[in-house]
Amino acid sequence: MQTLVLKGEEAIEKGAELIAQGEVVAFPTETVYGLGADAFNEDAVKKIFAAKGRPSDNPLIVHIADKSALEGLVEEVSEGAKAVMDRFMPGPITVIMKKSAKVPLSVTAGLDTVGIRMPSHNVAREFIRRAGTPIAAPSANRSTHISPTGAAHVYEDMDGRIPLIIDGEDCEVGIESTILDMSAEVPTILRPGAITAEMLAEVLGAVKTFSGKVVVAKAPGMKYKHYAPLCETVVAKDASSAKKAYDEALAEGLKPVIIAKSQTCALLEGRTHIDVGPTDKDICRNIYAALHRGEKIAGFIVCEHFGDEGICGSVMNRVMKSAGGKIV
Ligand code: AMP
Ligand code: MG
Repeated sequence: MQTLVLKGEEAIEKGAELIAQGEVVAFPTETVYGLGADAFNEDAVKKIFAAKGRPSDNPLIVHIADKSALEGLVEEVSEGAKAVMDRFMPGPITVIMKKSAKVPLSVTAGLDTVGIRMPSHNVAREFIRRAGTPIAAPSANRSTHISPTGAAHVYEDMDGRIPLIIDGEDCEVGIESTILDMSAEVPTILRPGAITAEMLAEVLGAVKTFSGKVVVAKAPGMKYKHYAPLCETVVAKDASSAKKAYDEALAEGLKPVIIAKSQTCALLEGRTHIDVGPTDKDICRNIYAALHRGEKIAGFIVCEHFGDEGICGSVMNRVMKSAGGKIV
């Protein structure tokens, strides 16, 4: 199959046409690129799992362009869910609610709940609107690989496997949406993201944060290896351990690279590095592109620990998985 990469009006028109034909389409959002299909067409949804090599027990998120689409998708919207959606949608959040009978179980991996997201990205919204149906989508990478934050990342993983990539520039947020389970007794964050626990607690009063230990996999995706570069990756707790890990890898004949924020890069004394910028927002926006670049130019990635607070905590949730939990 030939994979087209298109921009602008032409891309949106072709994308909507392919969705109507039961095909899959990669599209940009403010978080990462998604691989979408008509959420009500089970055959189309199956093509997402096939293109990604994704296990069928890992659910998809249903993307909408307008809140009016909620009616056909969920049983009811609780007061808390409404408050969260009023405050943060459109934006980088997915809200889990009881699903309506119309949503196929292949989308939700057999669960009686569905994750709903309304992206703020204009191209995403226009694409969904023109498709005229909710779009089920996970990230547009091969299963277990790093999520794509630019059209070129999608092309590397999906060339020949999907008919179209809508190119809508690089993603502004840079990591996947916060997933908030509003079907639980206490609202619970299943996956941290740019909308943090503190921000949600302001609206909800209380929210349970994801503890890190998976007893029962509520977000089934959590039990899989994720966000993994193609080469060994470790997290360094500070600049001096990053330098040490780098020098040891170099002595072993590996080609190392350090991913760090600008302030740390200034201390690396000529060692090869990728600068993800000075602020927390920059780090979040650039982390996946840095991992993509790292696996291309190096054989060993050392990533700085950016801290556990706020957005950096969400970034480290992903980086720790990339590194298989290895800290040096
Ligand atoms: P991705 O953004 O590619 O990681 O795929 C969507 C992720 O959303 C899945 O891996 C799940 O962790 C999560 N998810 C989607 N729907 C549900 C649901 N109904 N309940 C819990 N988690 C969900
Ligand atoms: Mg994913």
